[in-house]
Amino acid sequence: MLRLTDLKLPLDHSEADLVAAIRKRLHLDAAELAGYAVAKRSYDARKRGAIVLIYALDIDTPREAELLQRFADDTHVRPTPDTGYHFVAKAPPRIEHRPLVIGFGPCGLFAGLILAQMGFRPIILDRGKEVRERTRDTWDLWRKRQLHPESNVQFGEGGAGTFSDGKLHSQIRDPLHHGRKVLTEFVKAGAPEEILYVSKPHIGTFRLVSMVENMRATIESLGGEIRFSQRVDDLLLEPAADGQQQVRGVTLASGEQIRADHVVLALGHSARDTFEMLHARGVYLEAKPFSIGFRIEHPQSVIDRARFGPQAGHPMLGAADYKLVHHGKGGRSVYSFCMCPGGTVVAATSEPGRVVTNGMSQYSRNERNANAAVVVGIEPADFAPYGEGPLAGIALQRALESHAYFLGGENYSAPAQLVGDFLAGCASRDFGDVQPSYQPGVTLGSLDSALPDYAIAAIREALPAFERQIRGYAMPDAILTGVETRTSSPVRIERDNDSLQSLNTRGLYPAGEGAGYAGGILSAAVDGIKVAEAVARDIAARGLSA
Ligand code: FAD
Repeated sequence: MLRLTDLKLPLDHSEADLVAAIRKRLHLDAAELAGYAVAKRSYDARKRGAIVLIYALDIDTPREAELLQRFADDTHVRPTPDTGYHFVAKAPPRIEHRPLVIGFGPCGLFAGLILAQMGFRPIILDRGKEVRERTRDTWDLWRKRQLHPESNVQFGEGGAGTFSDGKLHSQIRDPLHHGRKVLTEFVKAGAPEEILYVSKPHIGTFRLVSMVENMRATIESLGGEIRFSQRVDDLLLEPAADGQQQVRGVTLASGEQIRADHVVLALGHSARDTFEMLHARGVYLEAKPFSIGFRIEHPQSVIDRARFGPQAGHPMLGAADYKLVHHGKGGRSVYSFCMCPGGTVVAATSEPGRVVTNGMSQYSRNERNANAAVVVGIEPADFAPYGEGPLAGIALQRALESHAYFLGGENYSAPAQLVGDFLAGCASRDFGDVQPSYQPGVTLGSLDSALPDYAIAAIREALPAFERQIRGYAMPDAILTGVETRTSSPVRIERDNDSLQSLNTRGLYPAGEGAGYAGGILSAAVDGIKVAEAVARDIAARGLSA
């Protein structure tokens, strides 16, 4: 196959137009175009009113070799790359101790799937419940103000991304096309095929739930074992050479011990008690930067108009998204994060007496509001007022989330303020045209004390700057809801670049978002694949069969 990139067509083109454009570009007769497949489709919306679609296409033609020679100097005509996944090892017939994966979010799911596909029969543990039960528990917080600390938006089958917008794009370097493997497995599990080629794929919450169940069934059919409501509370460790330690297994909350020499830690960013345990057990970790802020909600129509002009609402475009950055005068950067077109703001705490916001949507993205986090980057130096050492960022998160709970009225409502009032420095009393989507509800007032002063000042400076990029962004009725504190992990569990094992604990493989090696569903899943490969290589190289 031959890959043709950067082929531009107007938004309203037909399939015949696409075929004609391919033939014209490659000088092909009708009979010489045996077939084609869309490898990628994106749009360029810089000229509002004249938005174009940009295609990358895999072309099947008997003239392939000749065309590749003829267009040798043309960077948009190349052989189709091999994006297939190649397994790195095969399990020995019997393994003495099966590899353990802690966490069944995107990272643990893909670590478990790849290990299972290579024949390693992993055991996967998650502290939360299977996804249907977990969905009911999560709704208890949103509808009845009842939090289940072990079964919620953060914990349980599918991990943090299950109740989400299901955005699947990522800017990670991916020379081995692991992202393609992730998307292909998602499609096998029931995701729409288009995620394989649209430039900003998303799945939405509803489909994610059944996909996660299908993937669980696949892992089990390959001999893997997945256990829910099994919180890992401790590690079994032995001294090893060079002052290091070696993991020999884990202890569960029930007291049960499971023996393992390979333990993947795919904990997510909210496993604060587990981070504390790891620190107490001497596993090397350090504080890392993350971001704090609010969720902002606008009518989706305002964003669509600003981004797409007269072509707003076109079915090829869907609900518009955005990505904004403002470098503030005080040296702080403010940026939009995890934008959810046509979605809702959700209560995302996993600890009692705390309020945390996030966003989700369905595949259709047809709710009336657009939401996104507007957050300020913070560094470990900013954690000092809240504590010291590698866990100080967690102390900061907890302080802000507890204060948000207090500001919301101590019943899991979130504190909120209208953008106009926030910019004017006065408390909000009534909603305007925008109704908040956060469940179980919001309490209007002032958000000034919800974040440190530097963060409030930076967001106040950024909103008018964002208005210059998206007309209506600083509209007085837009709503800010607080607080957004779990943008990424506050710790990094350092690992060796080659073996992917903890710097000082052999056999322990920190992975995914909680360990500081991913941010988002796709990158966490890709990291899960990498770590599964590292585990498989180690077992195969050491011939660890019984
Ligand atoms: P997680 O998904 O957090 O999974 C960790 C798992 O480990 C959990 O299931 C937890 O129960 C388990 N666990 C933790 N501690 C223990 C223990 N001690 N013992 C046993 N099990 C344990 N990202 C995107 O890319 N696109 C989006 O649209 C998007 N929207 C989001 C919306 C919401 C509401 C939230 C909360 C997050 C969203 N994210 C999104 C972020 C994304 O979900 C995370 O980046 C991703 O899930 C991280 O994957 P992970 O596997 O590393 O960790």
